Amino acid sequence: MANLLRAAATWGLFPWRGYCSGGTQGELSKGFVEALKAVVGSSHVSTAVAVREQHGHDESMHRCQPPDAVVWPQNVEQVSQLAALCYSQGVPIIPFGTGTGLEGGVCAVQGGVCINLTHMDKILELNLEDFSVVVEPGVTRKALNTRLRDSGLWFPVDPGADASLCGMVATGASGTNAVRYGTMRENVLNLEVVLPGGELLHTAGLGRHFRKSAAGYNLTGLFVGSEGTLGLITAATLRLHPAPEATVVATCAFPSVRAAVDSTVHILQAAVPVARIEFLDDVTMDACNKHSQLNCSVAPTLFLEFHGSEQVLAEQLQRAKEITQDNGAFHFSSAKEAEERGRLWAARHSAWYAVLALRPGCKGYSTDVCVPISRLPEILVQTKEDLKAQGLTGAILGHVGDGNFHCLLLVDPEDPEELHRVKAFSELLGRRALALHGTCTGEHGIGLGKRQLLQEEVGAVGMETMRRLKAMLDPRGLMNPGKVL
Ligand SMILES: Cc1cc2nc3c(=O)[nH]c(=O)nc-3n(C[C@H](O)[C@H](O)[C@H](O)COP(=O)(O)OP(=O)(O)OC[C@H]3O[C@@H](n4cnc5c(N)ncnc54)[C@H](O)[C@@H]3O)c2cc1C
Repeated sequence: MANLLRAAATWGLFPWRGYCSGGTQGELSKGFVEALKAVVGSSHVSTAVAVREQHGHDESMHRCQPPDAVVWPQNVEQVSQLAALCYSQGVPIIPFGTGTGLEGGVCAVQGGVCINLTHMDKILELNLEDFSVVVEPGVTRKALNTRLRDSGLWFPVDPGADASLCGMVATGASGTNAVRYGTMRENVLNLEVVLPGGELLHTAGLGRHFRKSAAGYNLTGLFVGSEGTLGLITAATLRLHPAPEATVVATCAFPSVRAAVDSTVHILQAAVPVARIEFLDDVTMDACNKHSQLNCSVAPTLFLEFHGSEQVLAEQLQRAKEITQDNGAFHFSSAKEAEERGRLWAARHSAWYAVLALRPGCKGYSTDVCVPISRLPEILVQTKEDLKAQGLTGAILGHVGDGNFHCLLLVDPEDPEELHRVKAFSELLGRRALALHGTCTGEHGIGLGKRQLLQEEVGAVGMETMRRLKAMLDPRGLMNPGKVL
């Protein structure tokens, strides 16, 4: 038992979200806190325990580790001054978006100053003819799409949570629409970044928002997925897409996981331009039925969505129906009306909470791996067997069109032995994905918990190259320390 408790503590999983150890790594001097206040104003600095604890965790199981102070800058000049101040005094800097991350990215493992960017929430520029927009870091994806509602354009990257767009840049987020519209990597045109010492970088050049470029190294790409370890993203120029003329959603159930995944592969091979293709296993469907009052079969299921003109949609739907039925699908049904579509996607987006409700009192841990799509059936079947062998309650769902899936594991916070099995399962799953030429994270990032898996994924030379890049931009190692590397 003592060993298990030690293992849990090493993994940093206790205590759970909502209560903190209260300890900080280093007290900030009174003079330093006054200097922070001089930059942003007294009302935008807090050292209150409750506020620090609120900023010491995200939505993951990683232990709350509060920063020593939280500040809310109002503009990029203040961010730059804060970075310069912290850097000159050797104080760690932790950028904070909306705290919906799932890998402990905002935990202040060495204390320091958390820079909460939510007050910078302006849409700075909207270039409708160029299909681009410039947003400050506090703008969330829902706020952007609300603003775009009557423009005929939208921003499709959708991680479910209403995350900040710059937080999504920082984690390389994606979600349900990635199979058609790409991830954040494909949808960021330019970034304004405050480097650790306070310098301002425009990764593609000041004010530029072109669609393609062959000019030099891809600095924009370097910051997508950098998880706050290289600088603070203070503005993002994003690519917009035409809003679809019409949308139709379909669901279909299958006799096996393999049949559902084979259908996915065949739909993609047939070049049906599906916008979303989501897999939910029998456990997830059972949970969604109960939680969202659906009446779907408790079986491996695909949720599909198609975008286009009415005529094109009818063809796409028919083709998908034929393919899924060839693979043994039953209960193929479709919905065009916004209300019914909304109900189905709301159920899908609530899957996390629906699964949590299966074992009241338990906490959830979401794994995240991605494999070449041809290896999906194999890893999904293995994962189901691993869950059984480990005696764990877990539901599988994912963005199968990209080969990306999650296993939502339920764990009793009072049971260190179960916690240990969850950790072992999660590492095994990461290694299974690597063995199948995949990655240990398709979208949640490395954060605190996957650093060992990253080493195994990219190898010694890959790690050393990343370390050198980090050391060049952040020689004192103060930008979000303890994450990624
Ligand atoms: C129910 C649920 C479902 C989810 N589903 C998905 C999904 O389908 N796909 C997916 O990709 N994610 C998913 N997520 C995870 C999460 O929403 C994403 O990781 C999101 O991108 C985090 O954004 P945030 O603003 O909340 O960032 P935070 O959690 O605040 O921060 C995440 C990381 O980014 C850094 N960071 C934040 N803002 C900045 C900035 N301006 N500059 C530099 N660094 C910054 C932080 O330091 C931290 O390391 C889900 C989360 C939940 C709770």
